[in-house]
Order: sequence, then structure tokens, then C-alpha cells
Amino acid sequence: MSARTESTSEIMDNAEAGASGLKSAGSVVSNTIATNKVVSFHYRLSSVDAAGNRGNVLEESFDGDPLHYLHGFHNVIVGLERALEGKQEGDAIDIVLQAEDAYGHRRPDAVRRVPIKHVRPPKGAKSLAPGMIAAVQTEEGTQRVLIIKVGKYNADIDFNHPYAGRALHYEVKVAGVRDASAEEISHGHVHTSASHQQ
Ligand SMILES: [Zn+2]
Repeated sequence: MSARTESTSEIMDNAEAGASGLKSAGSVVSNTIATNKVVSFHYRLSSVDAAGNRGNVLEESFDGDPLHYLHGFHNVIVGLERALEGKQEGDAIDIVLQAEDAYGHRRPDAVRRVPIKHVRPPKGAKSLAPGMIAAVQTEEGTQRVLIIKVGKYNADIDFNHPYAGRALHYEVKVAGVRDASAEEISHGHVHTSASHQQ
């Protein structure tokens, strides 16, 4: 299924000689998305209405920098990774993903009571209120959560992903494809700048 590109690796090594050769190198030789490729892409994420049509825009990157990820390591949601397989720079995707291919189904047991001091209100808000998307520090890093109810010391928080249980519409444009470095492959993620956290 996935196209292998071993025969081109020598040329790639030369192209990547500069340690910071982040862009363009991949497109010269093979710019087809497959496992061990670093993909950059723009996306527009929209809700899907009851009739299955595109609703309001929830997020988008077209007015800013593209996202980068290492393909084949589940660094993006499964439906998106599957749709991007085999695509090339410049290709566009327009798809509706059901919850199981996006952020999964909602888990009813994911609503929990948490001390308010552990919850950070969204930008611009001084205190918590029901309906807000706030941030909580967990063992896996910062998580965005929905505030259900706020008491004096505690808040009831929905730890489901805000998009869990929803069908989502994605418009994606592939901005670039390159071979991953051996280090990126061993780490399982992309290195996009000088800074590296793990
Ligand atoms: Zn790393």
C-alpha cells in the first residue's frame, strides 16, 4: 500500500546536508505522503450540521503557518492521516470525518470534579463559567476541557475532547512533503525548529 522510496535516499542525504534544511528538500525527489514523511499542511475545520452539510468554521490555519507532522505515527487524527496517505504537495482534500475517525466518541465517565486552582480560564476571562473551554494540567500535558458547573472550590469538568462525538468537516491543502530525519523517525515526531523538548 505505502510507496517505498529507499532508492532516492542517497539524493536526499545530499539535499539535507544543511542541518536546518527544513523545507523544499523532499519535493525534489519524492513528495508523496507515506510513512516516515514529514508533511506540512493547511486546514480548515468546520462543524457538520444535522443534514451532513458544512457548518461554521471552528479552526483554520490558512491565515497563518501550516501544521507539520510525521506521517504514519498517529500524530494527527486517524481519518486525516488516512486521507493524506498518497497525496502530494499542492493536493487538496475535502472530507467529512465521523467521530470514530476524528476525536472518538464521548465517554460519559469523563466528567469529573476538580479543584478550581488547577483550572486555567480561557484568555480574557478572569473566572470560570459553565460552557467555557478551559485548560487543565494533566500527566499528558495541558488539556482543553469543557466547564460544566462551577462551585466555590471545585468545578465539574468534561475531560472529553471538545470535538469528541462529533462529525467534522476538513478542508486540507498539502503545503509540503519531505523525508523525515533518522532522529525524527526514532522520536516518532517532527522537529520543526531549533528548540526540542524531549
Ligand atoms: Zn524529538
